[in-house]
Amino acid sequence: MAKKYEGAAIGIDLGTTYSCVGVWQEQNDRVEIIHNDQGNKTTPSCVGFSNSQRLIGDAAKNQASSNPTNTVFDAKRLVGRKYSDSVIQNDLLLWPFKVNADANDKPMIVVTCKGEEKHFFAEEISAMVLTKMREFAEVFLESPVKNAVITVPAYFNDSQRRATKDAGVIAGLNVMRIINEPTAAALAYGLQKRANCVEERKVFIFDLGGGTFDVSLLTLKNNAFTVKATAGDTHLGGEDFDNRLVNHFVNELKRKNKVDISGNSKALRKLRTACERAKRSLSYDTEATIDIDAICQGVDFCSSITRAKFEQLNMDLFEKCMKTVKSCFNDAKMDSSSMDDVVLVGGSSRIPKVQSLLQNFFRGKDIFKSINPDEAVAYGAAVQAALLSGGIKTVPNLVLRDVIPLSLGTSVSGDIMDILIPRNTSIPVKRTQTYVTCDDYQSYVLNEVYEGERMKASENNLLGFFNLSVPRAPRGLPHKVCFTIDADGILNVSCEDETSGNKKDITITNEIGRLSTDEIKRIIQEAENFKAEDIKFKKKSEAINALDDYLYNVKKVMKDTNVSSLLPTQSKNKITSLITKCEYLLDGDKNEETYVFVNMLKKLESITESTLGMKKNG
Ligand code: ADP
Ligand code: MG
Repeated sequence: MAKKYEGAAIGIDLGTTYSCVGVWQEQNDRVEIIHNDQGNKTTPSCVGFSNSQRLIGDAAKNQASSNPTNTVFDAKRLVGRKYSDSVIQNDLLLWPFKVNADANDKPMIVVTCKGEEKHFFAEEISAMVLTKMREFAEVFLESPVKNAVITVPAYFNDSQRRATKDAGVIAGLNVMRIINEPTAAALAYGLQKRANCVEERKVFIFDLGGGTFDVSLLTLKNNAFTVKATAGDTHLGGEDFDNRLVNHFVNELKRKNKVDISGNSKALRKLRTACERAKRSLSYDTEATIDIDAICQGVDFCSSITRAKFEQLNMDLFEKCMKTVKSCFNDAKMDSSSMDDVVLVGGSSRIPKVQSLLQNFFRGKDIFKSINPDEAVAYGAAVQAALLSGGIKTVPNLVLRDVIPLSLGTSVSGDIMDILIPRNTSIPVKRTQTYVTCDDYQSYVLNEVYEGERMKASENNLLGFFNLSVPRAPRGLPHKVCFTIDADGILNVSCEDETSGNKKDITITNEIGRLSTDEIKRIIQEAENFKAEDIKFKKKSEAINALDDYLYNVKKVMKDTNVSSLLPTQSKNKITSLITKCEYLLDGDKNEETYVFVNMLKKLESITESTLGMKKNG
């Protein structure tokens, strides 16, 4: 039976560098991509911790240069991985923030927040970003939001998918479905084209984002998408193009201004921000300017760059993308000319040179760009969310069919990987296999669940293990193992002892690296505390601003000799003394509680209202 969902359901593209949220609007019959509090449609997947508060999104990214060690990004690279994972070991060297391992080899991000050392799992950081995206949607929809579809890269394995779902739960969301990013983009595209094709269409998805590059081959038939192949580069994207620009300008500064900022992280951060902005505008203009006041040692830096120079600086990286595209076709034993559609995804696919290289490769094919590339994934997620909640009545029910990215199996004697579900199998899926005991009178069987393509089981990724007690009997006692993968791509394993007829469903208990239910509960509580603190902080800054504002006006009025000379001395003294008190309060470190500022404002307002006839604030 279909689940019932109450209220609007949103789609969230939780990106490595930027996130995006969309919602299906029934009244307009289309997806609305929701802008954030800064008016942007994508929000940096970034969380910053300062002495006074926690910042998420643009605000966090904006303070990154002055607070690099407490500004966390790239949580998506950490999520669902072990600390000892070589991917993380390599990334560690590049991050300005600290990451340690906990007792279970799970990475923990270490930051200083309000003078205290705090530890966060990657899921918690992702949850903060998700919470922010949810809040933007709530402001836009003017109602609470609970249900969401979240996207993940097609290559995300079981633990990465679970961890993403956990992040959603921590953010207080009901995660209706986890779907693959290319599938979401294809869905967005399918909807736009109102695809209702009986013949199979082959779709190529080119996703060049901020830090990652992913390509996928999908087929679309009878309104169903199937992922056929994926390829990519986990460290290639917009940030690399920014780096090339940064290096270019560091050299220019050396040459022209005789300053070397290469070791100055603050100056580099300022330059990087300016370079990203310049890069974005070079997708529309042929020249962009860089203008940074006091980049270092009082040097104002002003320069410009042409689109041609930008392309020249990045040409090898663009070529690298094309090489990956070619190898994807080779691996899939397909020809580029057999593609029916090419879809651009990811902010960096807006770069004209990237588009023209692709256009050359897919000679004669139309490159699909009617949806903004950095919004396509959220668009598709929003469509999926609406489909799941029965919110769309006007379009055919598009069915999503994804495949598992890695083979799943158990280890059998001799450390051999016995595959139950081979990679690229469509999900949801259920497979059963009967095994027999290999020792006489053994009392239990150990099942280890692995994911990967290596023949030797232990060289694959151990997802978990469990024991099943069996009646003591000579070797050869059969037991049935069943793998089920749900529509989110998440695995459950059960085991049944056939002889005794004991039907015992066992899910993996020792899930490695997964947060426990208790941990999730604790984290949710902490997230709520954080939210309460954020609100408290906001209230206090509002109170301080209101007082500051009002004080400014009072002082202005008092400066007017016409007004102050007419005041009775007693009132005048009272006001002057209050002004001094306010100034003292506002010049201090503002550690007082919010009510101190609020009360002071009230006092000031009441006296100035009666003596000066000033109107109250707000
Ligand atoms: P993610 O990789 O996190 O999914 P996006 O797909 O939103 O993120 O891509 C973000 C990247 O796209 C950033 O590096 C950003 O600078 C880049 N980008 C955004 N708009 C443009 C543009 N107009 N031209 C070039 N690059 C852009
Ligand atoms: Mg993306």
